[in-house]
Amino acid sequence: MLYFYPGPSKLYPAVRQYLSEAYDSGILSVNHRSPEFVNLSKSTISLLKEKLHIPQAYTVLFVSSATESWEIIAQSFSPQGSLHIFNGAFGQKWYEYTLKINEKAKSFLFGLDEEININLLPAFEANTICLTQNETSNGTQVSNETITQISKNYPNSLIAVDATSSMGGIELDWQWIDLAFASVQKCFGLPAGLGIMICSPKAVEKGLEINERRHYNSFAFLYENMQNWQTNYTPNVLNIYLLNRVLSDALPIHLISKQTKERASNWYTFLEKSYFSLLVKNSHTRSDTVIAVQGEEDFIKKIKENAKNQGIILGNGYGKWKSTTFRIANFPAIGQEEINHLQTFLAEFIAQEPNS
Ligand SMILES: *Cc1c(COP(=O)(O)O)cnc(C)c1O
Repeated sequence: MLYFYPGPSKLYPAVRQYLSEAYDSGILSVNHRSPEFVNLSKSTISLLKEKLHIPQAYTVLFVSSATESWEIIAQSFSPQGSLHIFNGAFGQKWYEYTLKINEKAKSFLFGLDEEININLLPAFEANTICLTQNETSNGTQVSNETITQISKNYPNSLIAVDATSSMGGIELDWQWIDLAFASVQKCFGLPAGLGIMICSPKAVEKGLEINERRHYNSFAFLYENMQNWQTNYTPNVLNIYLLNRVLSDALPIHLISKQTKERASNWYTFLEKSYFSLLVKNSHTRSDTVIAVQGEEDFIKKIKENAKNQGIILGNGYGKWKSTTFRIANFPAIGQEEINHLQTFLAEFIAQEPNS
């Protein structure tokens, strides 16, 4: 099977071997206060910083998922409220969960084909400005340039970025980001069950000043444990091990990013040339890692079925776009031959079933 679902997605093929090496190494049976775990944790964080070009002064935390990061940011970083700027289902969920925790959360919506205009943003003194860098539900992204502008626009706030389906696939401009998080089942090509959260020195300072300690996953506890390369609860050691091995093999992010962007550009050219209809019309707001193709409900249903019969798993639409789009992951673990295979299938399909 070829997996183009935008997470969980295709695993790096080497994961198969790393799984048995994890078993043989004994790391899965030692406790998370042991020197063996501490070494693994320290080495994984150092690899993450090296390969993703994360500044040394930033703090990396292990959490269970991106969803947990939404909760941590709401609880531990946003007592005076947060501003959520979004155009799709994940940004909206983040806002809605935050609202249950703190009713001071505010939202600002923009369109799929719209680059966020900072002149229109509310002048709101929020602790955190929450952006979904890559909106997996509709295949849009917020550029590094826009994040920089927003960051400059709110000098007293922390800029929190959901990069779940882009971190590890494209390069982020860390200088303008205070909190960023991802789950490993998207661009890291690993099985689900581990999240990473990256905090700037400014975020650490604010988090410690706020000093919220009412939850098992309060930032203060996570941070204190991480001073010893540990976690407060037993973490997903297997996934941390796999992340370590996969990162050791990975190219530095500027090279992965270049390849991801080239492949995305080829995808969009191919789809337009083949008369597929793209959900996002503005090429400046299209995602590099998740591509959304639009069509009549019947067309979408049929193409997904036919693909599956040929061993290709396309991503379903999500949220509002559930039955009128399919999505294609453009994650680094997917090989060029697999992309060629899918493009051949799509070209043959559209020749027989034009999308009216
Ligand atoms: C997948 C995804 C999430 C949720 O990830 P979990 O691992 O299920 O918590 C959150 N935000 C975005 C943008 C995503 O793509």
